[in-house]
Amino acid sequence: MAKVKDPICGMTVDTERAKFSGEYHGVKVYFCAEACKKQYEKRNP
Ligand SMILES: [Zn+2]
Repeated sequence: MAKVKDPICGMTVDTERAKFSGEYHGVKVYFCAEACKKQYEKRNP
């Protein structure tokens, strides 16, 4: 079990339970919600 920070809102996200994640430039990023994921994609096209 690993916990990482949602880069958008700063919330702690459990990587095993995270429903929202994506790989950007080879780095896996986890989010608490779809809105945060969308926001991240906007900032990191
Ligand atoms: Zn978030």
